[in-house]
Amino acid sequence: MDDIEDRLNSSHPNKKNIFTNVWFQFSLSLLLIMLLFITTLYAGIFLRQEKSINEGFKNKASSLFNSIVLTRKWNAMYGVVFVEKKEGIQSNPYLKNPDIKSVEGKIYTKKNPALMTREISEIAEKEGSFKFHITSLKLVNINNAPDEFEKQSLLSFENGVTETFIKENIGGVPYYRYMAPLHVNEECLQCHNNNGYKVGDIRGGISVKFSIMDTERELKKSRIITIALFIATMVLLTWLIIRLVFKLYKRLSKAEQKLKELLNTDALTGLSNRRSVVGGLYKEVERARRYKRPFCCIMIDIDHFKKINDTYGHQAGDEVLRVIGKIMKSIFRNSDLTGRYGGEEFIVLLPETDIEGAMAAAEKIRAEVENAEIVIAEKEVIRMTSSFGVSCLCEDDDMPLEKKAADLVGRADKALYKAKSEGRNRVCKE
Ligand code: GH3
Ligand code: MG
Ligand code: MG
Repeated sequence: MDDIEDRLNSSHPNKKNIFTNVWFQFSLSLLLIMLLFITTLYAGIFLRQEKSINEGFKNKASSLFNSIVLTRKWNAMYGVVFVEKKEGIQSNPYLKNPDIKSVEGKIYTKKNPALMTREISEIAEKEGSFKFHITSLKLVNINNAPDEFEKQSLLSFENGVTETFIKENIGGVPYYRYMAPLHVNEECLQCHNNNGYKVGDIRGGISVKFSIMDTERELKKSRIITIALFIATMVLLTWLIIRLVFKLYKRLSKAEQKLKELLNTDALTGLSNRRSVVGGLYKEVERARRYKRPFCCIMIDIDHFKKINDTYGHQAGDEVLRVIGKIMKSIFRNSDLTGRYGGEEFIVLLPETDIEGAMAAAEKIRAEVENAEIVIAEKEVIRMTSSFGVSCLCEDDDMPLEKKAADLVGRADKALYKAKSEGRNRVCKE
């Protein structure tokens, strides 16, 4: 029993022991688990988003690269592609004999893949979409010199890397840069066979560059929204968990309270049970001793109760106990502790009451019990009497608390036996 109560008390939030913080620890654990779960979830969403955007950039860059490679291939496939040299069209200064004249006298100039790439890149750049740059570690045109990214990329291609990409801030604008190698094929050798190349060699590379300002701006917005959502989810879930734990705590506290009441109450009479009265006895004896206050104890025993049971049955006996419980409840003050001590024995603890007061209270009960009539099913009336033993706390302060309490109850018991031996239905003191 004591063990159960100890355990019940342990979950009470006001008690300062290791179990005091059970609710705090429970809430904290729940919050930490939730934090871990939500953080993982949002980190996953965040990384997935970044990955798919970067993949989008790379796909766009590699398709641009592939389309220019295809266009170059188309150009190289024909060996030479000539365009009419209209006004403003320059001849390629890096080619030997770039111009030809038709029989009609029109001049055509050669557009090799390198020049074509540069011109397409210029058109694309003018339209503000992207830029190509064809470059090599072995330059024909000095203007096509690689920048740092391109140079590093070209060196890595020599080591088997197939593509490179970075995000670079140029003049305050974020760019995505991509580069892949250009391999020598049959068509290339038609013009470049004097450079010592053979099929499959890496002749250089084409880098692609486009602004990612709009996407980055959107990504920034989306990051802010994700963080805001994360915070909102955390706040909401924290509130829900705290509310849930608080509700749970309130429910359990109620159940605890009910359980404590059940543990301390005698089911038949509704009075306190022996365990509860003994607990109260130590507390009251200690208080009375410390503040030097009067304190008395009354032991009550129903006279010839066995006879009532034998004559009218146990149910009638139980009814008698219930009625006596009611009488005691109606007479004693709330500050008095009234309980069932054993079978048909009762105990009353009376703080702030001297021997005269206790004797008077006992006499009052005795008269009430004597006058009570209990009508049972067969319209029979049960009448009964009871005997009382009264004792008061002695002044001897040297006695230990438990001994003092036992002495008080022992003397009340002794007085009760005296009442029995003197003929019952009376109050005796010791
Ligand atoms: P005395 O005047 O000397 O006290 O005689 P008594 O018959 O009251 O005392 P005794 O101790 O001989 O008998 C007490 C009886 O109380 C015996 C027991 O069966 C009965 N009793 C104890 N608890 C209960 C209970 O909860 N219900 C009922 N009906 N009877 C009970
Ligand atoms: Mg008895
Ligand atoms: Mg009795």
